[in-house]
Amino acid sequence: MAALTRQSRLTGILGAAAKKLEKARDLRTVGDLLDFLPRRYIDANTSGRLSEFTVGETAVLVATVVSVQTRSMRNRRGKMLEAVIEDADGTAARLVFFRAYGHEQRLLPGVRALFRGKLDTYRGGWQLSHPDYTLLDDDQEQDSVYAGGLVPVYLNVAGVTDMQMTQSLRLVLDQLDVPEDPVPGKIRTGRGLSDQLDAYRLLHLPQTQADVGRGKRRLRYDEALVVQTALAQRRARYDAEEAVPRAVRPGGLLAAFDERLPFELTAGQREVGAEIAADMARDRPMHRLLQGEVGSGKTIVALRAMLAAIDAGAQAALLAPTEVLAQQHERSIRAMLGDLGEGGMLGGAEHGTQIALLTGSMPKSQRERVLLDIVSGPVGIVIGTHALIQEHVMFADLGLVVVDEQHRFGVEQRDALRGKAVRPPHVLVMTATPIPRTVAMTVFGDMDTSALTELPSGRQPIASHVVPASKPAWLERTWRRVAEEVAGGHQVYVVCPRIGDPDDAMLEVPDDGSAPDLETYGDEEPEVVRELHGVYQMVQRLRSEPAMDGLRIEMLHGRMSPDDKDTVMQVFGRGEIDVLVSTTVIEVGVDVPNATTMVVMDADRFGISQLHQLRGRVGRGDAGGICLLVTESDNPTTVSRLEAVAATTDGFALAGLDLELRREGDVLGSSQSGQRSQLRLLRLTHAKDVELIEQAREDAIGIVADDPELTKHPALAAMVQTRLDDEQAAFLERG
Ligand code: ADP
Ligand code: MG
Repeated sequence: MAALTRQSRLTGILGAAAKKLEKARDLRTVGDLLDFLPRRYIDANTSGRLSEFTVGETAVLVATVVSVQTRSMRNRRGKMLEAVIEDADGTAARLVFFRAYGHEQRLLPGVRALFRGKLDTYRGGWQLSHPDYTLLDDDQEQDSVYAGGLVPVYLNVAGVTDMQMTQSLRLVLDQLDVPEDPVPGKIRTGRGLSDQLDAYRLLHLPQTQADVGRGKRRLRYDEALVVQTALAQRRARYDAEEAVPRAVRPGGLLAAFDERLPFELTAGQREVGAEIAADMARDRPMHRLLQGEVGSGKTIVALRAMLAAIDAGAQAALLAPTEVLAQQHERSIRAMLGDLGEGGMLGGAEHGTQIALLTGSMPKSQRERVLLDIVSGPVGIVIGTHALIQEHVMFADLGLVVVDEQHRFGVEQRDALRGKAVRPPHVLVMTATPIPRTVAMTVFGDMDTSALTELPSGRQPIASHVVPASKPAWLERTWRRVAEEVAGGHQVYVVCPRIGDPDDAMLEVPDDGSAPDLETYGDEEPEVVRELHGVYQMVQRLRSEPAMDGLRIEMLHGRMSPDDKDTVMQVFGRGEIDVLVSTTVIEVGVDVPNATTMVVMDADRFGISQLHQLRGRVGRGDAGGICLLVTESDNPTTVSRLEAVAATTDGFALAGLDLELRREGDVLGSSQSGQRSQLRLLRLTHAKDVELIEQAREDAIGIVADDPELTKHPALAAMVQTRLDDEQAAFLERG
């Protein structure tokens, strides 16, 4: 038989099993199968009888299924599965899965399996809740398949047992041609990494736990190297570009602006300002990421860079993720510049410039006038949304692109805007989400980074509290508190996870919350069982809330027309709305200093970083802020996550926590396609992986410096190419 390669089709090698693998998991080639890594391992060497284990211990045992029962649950969709198993002594244990799905096809009476799970008691007997298990084939001696006693457990493939998986992998690995290793031998030796093919062998056919560790380390390194190589190449391409230097000119707009700033710049703002000025004075394009907590004053830093660009004869564009934000930027920048923003107009300052707003919803005639002003030159600062990226927007001389709240824009969009300049413009990307170093290296590895770590003085801290909605008195207290704030002359946001239905603006009956939260069980996403609060319903409810009598309550959400949204924001900004019920459209950048209180409904539905972002909308003035996180969940994990958010306002600490609790895919914003997703093994939070990423980064920079197009490293080039498929591209696009 001809030797196999990663591209060989599984049909023809594995026979009937190949069809099942393709059907269940879309595994078509040898490479697909190799990358279908075990999820866990059960160490059969520690296997024993039930009597050998005590409660609370992890028990590993071979047992036979005696009886199985599935039943519907009262409070939620889906069925649970209960089984009775018996070990070799005939000792019985109850087995329970809160989700029968998948298990009911496998755990049939008479089936023998190796189980691994924490031993509990239930009504005086033994119990295992959702254990790992692998079915044992009757006609196969276990020892002949699992040489070291370590049993790989795979994601379920209908009709193929784990034992058959192992046999298939042995077959494939035995016939596989040794391919060229993508990692150069010198690096492998230097870093103590096993060969790639060995790594697959170690993971699929391990003898010991140490094997698994070595195999994983190598594949993790590969993941890191792919990303770092792509970033290093990207970085090298930037550095090869020639930009027009835009050095600060004394006595210009920037100087005039600095002179009339109503406050002192913080030390951080000055420092970062100097870094940016130095970057922009060079003849290669700046690519700088500016991180800074909400309210740390990034906008001023960006505006000063834009003014410097204008002083140097260029234009600057500010890209905002939403129309609300673009409009707000325009208003606040106009206000800050005063007559400096009315250059060439009656009453404008002598060397002033002009500001233009460009959004998708502008009337055609107005839009055309703005487009003309942008291409003919009088406009120095263009503020806009995605509309700025469109083909027909042309600039006279675009020198600086500022991207606000980076996470909603991708590299492609940034590149499209860069393409509007005669020569590559300088690029400043701003983010309010504190980014741990690993993520910075991974996602923004092609940029230089700066951080604003202090808030402008005079900022009041935000006090946050978790409000259990299951206690009506607490919720009542919340609304009274809201009314008190309003009575004190302040304003309030109430944030809901969804818009809801205008025709169904009735009070919703909340779930009694008595059922256990399923988040911790099973492989699938938790079901949304209770209705989440919608904006429409909430407005109705608050308007009829006795404590809120007479308050001006309005709504803001993404289905409103851009004009309506802008109007509501302006009216709210003028203090003519007391309570604004909204979705997360207010998440980024909205700045109304008089808003002191935020109530987040179904707070458990938001991520940690998102909650932190949200509450950054309050406490922006000098009155301090309160954030009330309302949840109906009584799941301890969920509640403690919210408590953690309430306990600190340190964005970096929260970002770290966020990383720990979420899967990397979420953190990086890429879709969760499970087995094929890029960072399957790499954990951006694990100290060991941080080191691995640093090593891979160093190695990648070395390789690319010497061989930018990877012509001397074809196997590495191929690995980067194939792994940077669409999904991966999307992940890198986060820059
Ligand atoms: P960010 O965009 O980083 O969230 P902003 O740039 O919107 O923060 O700044 C928040 C508020 O702080 C604005 O009202 C701004 O005018 C004000 N501000 C910025 N820098 C200073 C400073 N050095 N001293 C006092 N107030 C400042
Ligand atoms: Mg901002």
